[in-house]
Amino acid sequence: MIASNLTKLKQQIPKSVQLVAVSKTKPVELLMEAYQAGQRVFGENKVQELVDKHDTMPKDIQWHFIGHLQTNKVKYIASFVSLIHAVDSLKLLKEINKQGSKHTRVIDVLLQFHIADEESKFGLKHSDALQLLDDPDFFELKNIRIIGLMGMATFTQNNNQIRDEFRKLHHYHSILKAKQFKFADYFKEISMGMSGDYNIAIEEGSTMVRVGSLIFGSRN
Ligand SMILES: *Cc1c(COP(=O)(O)O)cnc(C)c1O
Repeated sequence: MIASNLTKLKQQIPKSVQLVAVSKTKPVELLMEAYQAGQRVFGENKVQELVDKHDTMPKDIQWHFIGHLQTNKVKYIASFVSLIHAVDSLKLLKEINKQGSKHTRVIDVLLQFHIADEESKFGLKHSDALQLLDDPDFFELKNIRIIGLMGMATFTQNNNQIRDEFRKLHHYHSILKAKQFKFADYFKEISMGMSGDYNIAIEEGSTMVRVGSLIFGSRN
């Protein structure tokens, strides 16, 4: 079932777009089905769950943390996490840098932008991001690397609105790329698109889609 879900999905996703299989709340047996079907990139949004799954599963998996990350929990995932999707403060960035330094590695992250018209979602406004990237403290951070942006569209049936929001994120990415990241060829990722809207996201320039329920079935 999971194997055929993955096959179907991959037929609709260009090779240049990375598929993050969002496995939160799902048991290891189901993740292993995806693994056996060739999937190597998994996304989780709870630190303890991520640590447990990392401990028990094969070591060639790339684990992405896609949820809101609390500063005091960075230390538990810093040794192995391959990408942190939702960084939205300098404070968190500094802690990731500190933990990266302890493990003598550079940790890749994405800045989360607020693109939805919902109050509760996390994320930076464009002006917040500019301020963060201008901060003298930011230039001291040698153990993190910002490789792009991440965003979540409003939960709505209105595809035009979703499209507008993804387009906005792509636009912010282009602006930062032209200036703050002009010489950073690694700043090329746009993580946007989930089960309900990945097609629109890809049309609007997504390089990374985070898909859960279409692969593993709906969650409770
Ligand atoms: C749960 C989650 C997803 C995947 O959602 P689906 O609708 O199941 O594809 C993607 N991104 C984030 C940040 C999530 O928390």
